[in-house]
Amino acid sequence: VVAEAASGLRFALLGSGSRGNATLVCHGSTRVLVDCGFSATEAQRRLARLGVDAAELDAIIVTHEHSDHIGGVARLARRYDIPVWMTPGTHEACREMTDVDVVLFDPHTAFAIGDFEVTPYPVPHDAREPCQLVFGDGDLRLGVLSDAGHVTPYMRTVLAGCHGLLLEANHDVEMMIAGPYPPSLKARVMGDRGHLSNLQSADLLRSIDTGALRHLVLTHLSETNNRPELALQAASEALNCTPDWLCVADQNAGLGWRTL
Ligand SMILES: [Zn+2]
Ligand SMILES: [Zn+2]
Repeated sequence: VVAEAASGLRFALLGSGSRGNATLVCHGSTRVLVDCGFSATEAQRRLARLGVDAAELDAIIVTHEHSDHIGGVARLARRYDIPVWMTPGTHEACREMTDVDVVLFDPHTAFAIGDFEVTPYPVPHDAREPCQLVFGDGDLRLGVLSDAGHVTPYMRTVLAGCHGLLLEANHDVEMMIAGPYPPSLKARVMGDRGHLSNLQSADLLRSIDTGALRHLVLTHLSETNNRPELALQAASEALNCTPDWLCVADQNAGLGWRTL
């Protein structure tokens, strides 16, 4: 178990990819889980790996209703009495939230959870009312972006100047085209409301101010249609360097603690 640093804005990933996503973001004594695509028991096991007890979570924020993001949310929330934050559309789209303390939020309006200011923003994805998030502590900002088919001007505005960024690099376009997915699934993933390719993520990095960036984690990589080295290479080229804080989150291992 890697010990959690005492304070500061810090984050870790329980796992990342189409078989399950969950991200832990902490500041001071506030602990927020973004999504939980793992079973409650598996999430507990992965939290313990990071030195965190699920009972210590202050909130779970759900970005959208796809099963790789919501799989274990209801059970975990019920087991530990954790409030679950989501947009009204996400709430309408997921049926399993009975006996859960649901807090609805507008994806255009910032809100506070403990020591965090959370700024949600809408993203184009094939879900009812999907959003992604920026976490701020009044000084530093951590941007989270996955599950978006393309990058809108508003997304660029929100993510510019972040100190940390968890950024989807779902697929390599050539691997996807040559790969085994049926045509309909290829079209869905590569479509305007699908997932960001390595090149789309690199284009985003080129188009925003990354001067303050000190952690960049590439997330939601396809195990079928991408390879870590391809995603890393695209991001390196966009940044014009290969910083030691550029890395990839793994489906099974996730990512250990990083502090901004
Ligand atoms: Zn996903
Ligand atoms: Zn999704």
